[in-house]
Amino acid sequence: MKIAFIGLGNMGGGMAANLVKAGHDVHAFDLSPEALARAKDNGCTTYTSVREAVQSADAVVSMLPNGAIVNSVYAADVIGHAPTSALLLDCSTIDVGTARKVADAASAAGYAMVDAPVSGGIAAANGGTLTFMVGGSPEAFARAEPILSAMGKAVIHAGASGAGQAAKICNNMILGATMIATCEAFALAEKLGLDLQTFFDISSKASGQSWSMTSYCPVPGVGPASPADNGYQGGFAAALMLKDLKLALEAAQGVGAKVPMGTRAEELYAAFTANGNGGSDFSAIIKTL
Ligand code: NAD
Repeated sequence: MKIAFIGLGNMGGGMAANLVKAGHDVHAFDLSPEALARAKDNGCTTYTSVREAVQSADAVVSMLPNGAIVNSVYAADVIGHAPTSALLLDCSTIDVGTARKVADAASAAGYAMVDAPVSGGIAAANGGTLTFMVGGSPEAFARAEPILSAMGKAVIHAGASGAGQAAKICNNMILGATMIATCEAFALAEKLGLDLQTFFDISSKASGQSWSMTSYCPVPGVGPASPADNGYQGGFAAALMLKDLKLALEAAQGVGAKVPMGTRAEELYAAFTANGNGGSDFSAIIKTL
């Protein structure tokens, strides 16, 4: 397929390269000349505007920083410029309201569109092992599934338009809260004189178990290899966790849901990133405890 790819940053760069490896003809655009040069090295054909990249595309994939940018790129340069036969897939993490608004505008202009945010970081984007949570009609999902499968290990239909974004922010609200809970338990365990490896061996097999504990342990030298073993570099930046928690709180406010743990997690990550730690892995919040 001829696939236009917009946004070739930390995540999009590897995703576009995996579409090339799967045999697709990838037409790439990014505002950054460095990102475009990397995409070219990875076998993409590069363009100097979104409009040129989406011309005659069978599908358009975007991986952009936020909802305002997604909205402006689709409104100005994708809708009305890509053929209406093209399937539109936005993989960025954005607010549910904007995802629905862009999909509605696309639908009114005759396009099928899905929101397909991802779980998994830069390593999963490069390795083609992302998990995609997809919002859109069953027909649009059926068309999106083979394209997304070339970039991920799991592609799950979450429901109608916006449902992918809803699943993503609910999932990451759990992640933010369990990471902080895991960090404070390790900090307390240490002060109570427990050996941290011993505490891991117990809690990872007891009811304190979670992904934050067993797959991403925030203590260096304990559990499987994680960013904690690498000076809290790489992995999932604290600034991105804060972004997702803010999206979760905004969504909760919109529907009147009570999210006291999500609210506290957002406050703690806001304080952590305000102290210049936004680029550290999110498990580095253990240093504040
Ligand atoms: P990034 O900043 O590395 O990449 C974004 C890219 O978009 C940049 O290369 C930028 O130049 C480009 N861009 C911005 N405006 C543009 C425009 N108008 N037209 C074309 N290109 C434009 O960000 P990232 O880490 O790749 O994240 C992308 C999305 O993926 C975000 O929504 C993020 O929340 C989500 N996400 C990131 C991770 C992660 O671990 N990095 C994990 C899951 C989801």
